[in-house]
Amino acid sequence: MRKALLFVVGGVGLAMLLTITVTSQANASPQGTQQQWGPNDRNRPEPPIITPGTASTQTHVGAPPSDAIVLFNGKDLSNWESVKDGGPPKWTVGNGYFATVPGSGYIRTKAAYGDCQLHVEWATPNPPHGTDQDRGNSGVFLHGLYEIQVLDSYDNVTYADGEAAAVYGQYPPLVNAARKPGEWQTYDIVFHGPRFDSSGKMLRAANVTVFYNGVLVQDHVDIMGPTAHHQRPPYTPTPDKLPLQLQDHNHPVRYRNLWIRELKAGQ
Ligand code: MG
Repeated sequence: MRKALLFVVGGVGLAMLLTITVTSQANASPQGTQQQWGPNDRNRPEPPIITPGTASTQTHVGAPPSDAIVLFNGKDLSNWESVKDGGPPKWTVGNGYFATVPGSGYIRTKAAYGDCQLHVEWATPNPPHGTDQDRGNSGVFLHGLYEIQVLDSYDNVTYADGEAAAVYGQYPPLVNAARKPGEWQTYDIVFHGPRFDSSGKMLRAANVTVFYNGVLVQDHVDIMGPTAHHQRPPYTPTPDKLPLQLQDHNHPVRYRNLWIRELKAGQ
């Protein structure tokens, strides 16, 4: 009886070892799956070494982490195109920043991105013009579908789920961490896109975490579908990777220091 039990335990152990070996080849990420590694296993892959970035100040643009894809090099919009016609964006480029040109339309990245960490800096016009939604309005559209609102929310009341750092029309930010108009503000976003099976059934919703000026304002929320004005359209199947879009909402909002780090499976 005891021998038989040991045999069974041994068999399970061998099966587990084989599973671990096979899985470790399929997923060499340092974190892997929760069950894959025991504590303090020195065979576990070390994380890749990168050089971290530096933070921006109001007068100085910081550096991205060494493994980030730089979306704006401070000089031109070569990584971007017009959503209207696919041609070069008609937005202006200034000294280290670019800005929306009212009426010129949305712009998008030429490349498509999947799950990611995204850093964006933006500044609304100073002196401010208009009130409510008509004041420093733009937007960061993850996958071109899910808007993290850009707005002058300093001393400017609007509906809660339309404030700066809202998932537009769905989730107000946890706090209003707005800086004054004209000051550079930051979004640090962690985005996981939705997944669909081959029949189009949704396996998971999109999910987003947002730090606004370093403050947690969206805490791992499931996005309800594409964002829209006075609507909640349902999800439709989309690819795992899609371009990032920025909104032209008829206000000259500035952007600088945009970079993205794509996340691999398991991250
Ligand atoms: Mg907007």
